[in-house]
Amino acid sequence: MTLYLATENKGKLHEMRALFAASLPQLQLQSVADLPPDVQGNYVAEETGKTYAENALIKAYALRRILPDAGDALVLSEDSGFEVEALGGAPGVYSARYEKTDQARCAKILRALEIKTAEQRRAKFVACVALIDQRNHPTLFFGRKEGFVAESASGDKGFGYDPIFSPVFGGPTWGELGEDAKNNDSHRSRALSLVIQYLIVRGSQNQIKEQPLL
Ligand code: IMP
Repeated sequence: MTLYLATENKGKLHEMRALFAASLPQLQLQSVADLPPDVQGNYVAEETGKTYAENALIKAYALRRILPDAGDALVLSEDSGFEVEALGGAPGVYSARYEKTDQARCAKILRALEIKTAEQRRAKFVACVALIDQRNHPTLFFGRKEGFVAESASGDKGFGYDPIFSPVFGGPTWGELGEDAKNNDSHRSRALSLVIQYLIVRGSQNQIKEQPLL
């Protein structure tokens, strides 16, 4: 079965491929970048939603619409964000647009939290995954990972806000810990593990349906 991934974010794509490969290696993964250039050019997903779910659905349907002949393929998208408690949950759904670059986005948060106590450095990542089935029906899956904003940016692994997020207060950041540690327990891996369970159950139900009745 083919699963089309509606994302152009290389960091996310890399993590999603690793997570699916570990649990469902038989799944064929195709991203927007794997589509023929003329089809790829038609992928336009304006993230105008006010929630992660709305944006995830916008992206998934934007890809579903342009797939020439998806057969029994599924489409999956993910919208995520970083929520800092002391900033009232900002940048949240606007995480990708908070500043122009990842570095500037991290610096803005660190500046805003300069005089905050440890308790006020609480933050979390949130992910919403939308899965569109063959009949165009959506199912949503959520994952969260709580932790803290580090005192300074460190580590060059991962992407986005990884260099300023520590799952344990005062501990290494995701930028330092790297992919395996992050994928072991992240907002994205939590949401995708629900998707994987769903696909496994769905696959076995289909097999049961195909068994002749005794
Ligand atoms: P979007 O889902 O494409 O709107 O982008 C979400 C944004 O949130 C990304 O561009 C990153 O800035 C941030 N983000 C989401 N997940 C992660 C993560 O796992 N690590 C670091 N930053 C993330």
